[in-house]
Amino acid sequence: MADVNTIKSAAPASAAAPHFPQQVTGMYILAETLRRLGLMHVYGLVGIPVTEAAYAMQKVGINYYGFRFEQQAGMAAATHGYLTKQPGVLLTVSSLGMLNGLTATANATVNCYPMIQISGASDPDMVDMDMGTYEQLDQLNTARPLVKAAFRCSHAKDIPRAVARAYRVAVSGRPGGVYIDMTTPALAEIMDAADVEKLFYSPVDVASPVAPNKEAVARAADILASAKRPALLLGKGAAYAQVDNKIKTLVDTYRIPYLAMSMAKGLMPDAGELSALSCRSTIMEKADVVVVVGARINWMLSFGRGKWNPDVKFIQLEVEPSEIDRNVPVAAPVVGDMGLALDMLLDEMKGRSMSADPAWLASLQADTKTKNAKFAARLADAARLSPMNHWSALSVVKPVLEANPDVILVNEGANTLDDTRDSVDMSLPRHRIDCASWSIMGMGMGSAVGAAVATGKSVVAVEGDSAFGFSGMDFATICRYKLPVTVLVFNNGGIYNGIGVNPSGADAPAPTTLDIDAQYNLIGKAFGADNYRVDNIADLRAALEAAIASKRPCLIDVQLAADAGKESGHIGYLNPIPLIDYTV
Ligand code: ADP
Ligand code: MG
Repeated sequence: MADVNTIKSAAPASAAAPHFPQQVTGMYILAETLRRLGLMHVYGLVGIPVTEAAYAMQKVGINYYGFRFEQQAGMAAATHGYLTKQPGVLLTVSSLGMLNGLTATANATVNCYPMIQISGASDPDMVDMDMGTYEQLDQLNTARPLVKAAFRCSHAKDIPRAVARAYRVAVSGRPGGVYIDMTTPALAEIMDAADVEKLFYSPVDVASPVAPNKEAVARAADILASAKRPALLLGKGAAYAQVDNKIKTLVDTYRIPYLAMSMAKGLMPDAGELSALSCRSTIMEKADVVVVVGARINWMLSFGRGKWNPDVKFIQLEVEPSEIDRNVPVAAPVVGDMGLALDMLLDEMKGRSMSADPAWLASLQADTKTKNAKFAARLADAARLSPMNHWSALSVVKPVLEANPDVILVNEGANTLDDTRDSVDMSLPRHRIDCASWSIMGMGMGSAVGAAVATGKSVVAVEGDSAFGFSGMDFATICRYKLPVTVLVFNNGGIYNGIGVNPSGADAPAPTTLDIDAQYNLIGKAFGADNYRVDNIADLRAALEAAIASKRPCLIDVQLAADAGKESGHIGYLNPIPLIDYTV
């Protein structure tokens, strides 16, 4: 596992940059800083004033990935950060480019993914005096409320320190997004290479993991050992922390049934002996002690109230103190770095025996069996439908993906998200990337690029047709960099479905209606990818298997029935109660 606290620089800090002429600009200082910090992948979209900066990055050996939309470059950087514990780097131009990228940086911050957005910016003196200069926007203050920290470089000499500090902020404590306003004067400033050399430094102990206190861990161990009906709830913070073996030890040694939040699926195998994935509501209603490992007790967990056993005791392993008691009192907060917290908890548990009622695990296992059989029957029924619905398509996507566990699954949509998450069992950690805490649409192509680049693995993106629309043009980026990414577009012709009715009776499409007859595969053709249009499960299986085996970009249009899918998928309850009748 990666030692993420030490920077693996691509160059010894003391080595003079071989690429440098006698005098250099801020552009080269930026590129060289990134290289020395080991940040060897940059995702972006260039133009004034950062074009040469991207060329300088390539020149010093950084892998630069050019996108069509800054938001998607940002999603790639965020995914890179999540999968590697090193900040992903996004490079944008000023004004709209910066704002487009900032949506992804804000999303990364919300999801605790480390990333750094570096954006070209107008001369701050002109911005401050509101002179109406080219692409004028007070970017620093626009970014500030949406990120962990924001810095501005007004001078070239500030660049090495700004980037190194951004790195530290992004990965330490609760990870998140950091913004750097890289002004034109800083980028353009010329310095002597010898003076520049003195500016570089390698930050020490960059992630600075902090241990929880001993009493907190002892309290947690007491509560866990005395539980009658314990359960472990894994969140993407646990997946991010790369503490897979420690979690496995805790679960296996003390035989604690577990369930995973969406992106933590596979951290422990979904189909494992102790997996209680299909018993979510039973656990909420009946568990007396729940160990929450790197998950927030937020809307996705009903804020810890309502459906939950009112007497449940939460043990929460969490790096951010302000997360504790956010919605419900936590009986045993364990605040600190996940790896250290688990080491201490495992230590503290030694010699204790669990008081769990054996009937608890047995009943969850029996329940799981029944529910899984029901689910399999549902998929088998759907497999016979023509045209296909989401479940029909998943009846073959599931076995193909499960037979290729090392493929990373990117997933977004409404029904496409819910149904894919519910059907496809994951067996490896950090192999599922989705719309995460904000439940946003528009992360697909960027995340697929970031996942493929960060891991070198193959990616399959299962996309709703609406979801695909937000990032579809960046399928071109997948093709340009020849990445092993397969995109499945589940086309039911609409947001939620394709049967919306315009209540005015006029011809204009309903708000949810998209393009049921669209041939999304032709987007693949336009950029030289393999492509298929399938309307039955046999063709879908053949296309998906061929696509994964090819390790080439591939786009598959999966034609579904227009009435497949319900409004808002599983979370329709979040809508205001409708006052007018509408069909969707
Ligand atoms: P999920 O959506 O899977 O429930 P969340 O994003 O809501 O996950 O929660 C993840 C939690 O994990 C966040 O509260 C975050 O502060 C925490 N976290 C992230 N990294 C670490 C770490 N290294 N150690 C401990 N906690 C962490
Ligand atoms: Mg749809």
